Amino acid sequence: MILKGKLCSAAEAKQLGLVDEIVSRDQLLEAAKKKITNGKRPSPHPLPRREEDGTATGEGRAIPAPRVSGNPAPGRALEVITKGLGGTVDDSLRMELDSIVELGETDATQNLIRNFFLAEKYRRGSSKQTPEKITHAAVIGAGVMGSGIAQWLSSRGVSVILRDVGTEELTRGLANVEKIYAGAVKRGIMTEEKAKEGRARIVASSAPIEMRDVQVVIEAASEKLEIKKQIFRDLAQKAPHAAMLATNTSALPISDLAVETKTPERVIGMHFFNPVSRMKLVEVVVGTETSDETIGRALGFVRQIAKLPVIVRDSPGFLINRVLFPYLLEAAELFENGVSGPEIDDTLLQWGMPMGPLRLIDEIGVDITVDIANTLEKAYRKRDRAPKILHEMQSAKMLGRKSGEGFYKYEGKTQTANAEIEKWRATQPVIPSEVEGSRGGTLKVTQRDPSTPLRFAQDYVSLRLMFLMVNEAARCVEEIVVASPEDADYGMILGTGFPAWRGGPLRFAENFGIKKLVEAMEKLARTNEKYMPCELLKKRARDGTKFYEN
Ligand code: NAD
Repeated sequence: MILKGKLCSAAEAKQLGLVDEIVSRDQLLEAAKKKITNGKRPSPHPLPRREEDGTATGEGRAIPAPRVSGNPAPGRALEVITKGLGGTVDDSLRMELDSIVELGETDATQNLIRNFFLAEKYRRGSSKQTPEKITHAAVIGAGVMGSGIAQWLSSRGVSVILRDVGTEELTRGLANVEKIYAGAVKRGIMTEEKAKEGRARIVASSAPIEMRDVQVVIEAASEKLEIKKQIFRDLAQKAPHAAMLATNTSALPISDLAVETKTPERVIGMHFFNPVSRMKLVEVVVGTETSDETIGRALGFVRQIAKLPVIVRDSPGFLINRVLFPYLLEAAELFENGVSGPEIDDTLLQWGMPMGPLRLIDEIGVDITVDIANTLEKAYRKRDRAPKILHEMQSAKMLGRKSGEGFYKYEGKTQTANAEIEKWRATQPVIPSEVEGSRGGTLKVTQRDPSTPLRFAQDYVSLRLMFLMVNEAARCVEEIVVASPEDADYGMILGTGFPAWRGGPLRFAENFGIKKLVEAMEKLARTNEKYMPCELLKKRARDGTKFYEN
């Protein structure tokens, strides 16, 4: 728990023996009095189990090193714990204090403190008006996202009409709702009673249904422009005039849907992330004709349901996919060029990402990845071109986790590198042989026997991929896709699990040194144009200015 800075729920704390009893807030005082007056001290939590060799678990036994390198805190905590065991309490407290003071000065701590205040800012918003309370919603499409959104809304007290084309689709959607509720109960996040109340708030129907009380409609049907246009034409007639019309599209222009309604001012994007119950971010996508009133209502609604909104301009990929995709596609390209898949993923895990990029492609689905890349490529050209290997995988129906194999083979809970895709590696790999390392100096590519995958100094792969993310995030600021560097950074932390202690891609760029970063990118750009830093980065490097004032 210490190494991960992990927070746990009351039920988990009880299970771990960290608390003695759980009572509701109104019974807290009574229960405490009772515990004091009954005179018994709570029995201590059992000590660590003795191993067969007589040593206690945790003593005299190697504690696994924290996975994340770069963030100084876990290693330091581990040092304090292990050294502290051998000394006096005073020594150990002194060591802890010294470490906290030293860690307090690191970029990582500063970034985490800033994130804390940012979270507050995004949670509260700046509007002084009391937002309307939304109690009735409709969700169109009961697939992965629609059912996830319906479950989330219903769990936050909103009644939901859930629509899809047929009973089979609805049954599948409701089964997913049930699965999410059951999971929440099992993990102690929700009582069975609350789950029951939540489920009862969803009315599923494949036939047209009266939408009189509905205040917001969220369209989450298949990602096909014609299907969505038809839905919006239909909503223009059937949804109440005052209802906000939102779409969960990942890539289609909001404005193309808005024109179908004759009231484009009330159309907006609400881009939820998968899985809805766990991802806090919602990109609120503003179309060219979306009114300020609709933006305000959408922000209020997103906060009402305890998600965090980031406002983005209607442009291909919005913020998150636009910044994430060049990174994902480059990882696939590195693989195609001979770098070992597990090595790419491990390197990025070490860097602090929650999941390696190839594993993430497998999660998203190779087919969906290619689809999104194709859409983005039309707008941003080469930097979003899906490498050949992804097309080969798609044709061979190796679609990632959902088909059982992609970059990895999935069997039960295990995953192993998929040897069958090796045949699609490039016959003549094109990879430059050196790049500037984050700790200064040049990192050489350490190439071994050509028949085995290439190996690189760790920084090479992670920096190469991160540079593309930084570049795209800077472009989003440059092109006012987001209003500020904070929005770009915070969005990436919430939407992709970008390590919070690195502060987001732009904060990372600043901590790394923008000048150094631009120089390294320009070097890479000599052989690969997508590394050419954007004008904003070049300007910052030239002027010595930063994205942030502090
Ligand atoms: P999905 O294929 O799981 O579900 C789509 C559902 O829409 C299907 O059940 C389908 O029957 C239904 N549908 C099709 N036409 C309809 C109509 N006319 N009326 C009502 N229902 C209709 O897709 P998904 O992954 O849930 O994606 C839905 C939307 O969310 C897409 O726009 C997608 O781009 C977006 N999105 C997906 C993800 C993700 O990770 N899957 C993340 C964010 C956004």
